Amino acid sequence: MKKNYVVGNWKMTASVSEGISLARLIQSGSSSEALDLLGDYNTEYYNHDLVPIVICPPFPVLSEVARLFHDTRFYVGAQDCHYHDKGAFTGDVSPAMLAELGCTWVIVGHSERRRYHSETNQVIGKKAAAALRNGLTPIICIGENQDERRQGRTEAVLIEQIDGIVSELGHESLQKCVIAYEPVWAIGTGNAATSNQAASVHSTVKQHCLTICGEQLPVLYGGSVTPDNARDFVSMADIDGVLVGGASLSSDFLSIAIAAGA
Ligand code: PEP
Repeated sequence: MKKNYVVGNWKMTASVSEGISLARLIQSGSSSEALDLLGDYNTEYYNHDLVPIVICPPFPVLSEVARLFHDTRFYVGAQDCHYHDKGAFTGDVSPAMLAELGCTWVIVGHSERRRYHSETNQVIGKKAAAALRNGLTPIICIGENQDERRQGRTEAVLIEQIDGIVSELGHESLQKCVIAYEPVWAIGTGNAATSNQAASVHSTVKQHCLTICGEQLPVLYGGSVTPDNARDFVSMADIDGVLVGGASLSSDFLSIAIAAGA
């Protein structure tokens, strides 16, 4: 049976205290407050073997969230990392630090990092390599923008992104990564890709990665995922789960996880 991943990217949306409260509610499971906010997060409710659920809070709450989720069914990930393990890089956070905190996953190459921090495919490849070196699973984000899709260049753009990343990451290391296909035009817009559109892209991405590294990689879809469309996405053979932004901070996240088979 296909394993669906559900990843929640909290971005910079909640405050520190809200983030910690949210994590406490998730962790404590069946309290009535938790039911109000996020539904029943009773750990026995989920089938851990089938649906890994990864929660990616912002850096200031990572330590507390990792502590709260230690020995639970939830994995904790970061939203970014540096590509060096340590050094004079003011304001940055290394993958070694993330691992020390108990993180096991990290998102790299999110379109907001590419856009606001000018991250290139090569930098993203180095970040993914650094994550692996420190025992973290990188979730590598790729995706075309609106113009590129209109020009019929979606697949070429994605292949160029993957190849640029692999030029620094290395072919074999790609085997240990998870890819997230996140069309830029679908992120935070309410304008999700259709499951057929996404599945067709996923098939190309999977085939390209298979050619490069000899493995079928998990490819998640991200971009305006909601409880209403999540089931359509995960019902497609080539879609191995979802990366959820806005809906990861509300009770919708529970509904999405359930739709994915949790
Ligand atoms: C994201 O930022 O990775 C994302 C998918 O956001 P949203 O679900 O809000 O579109």
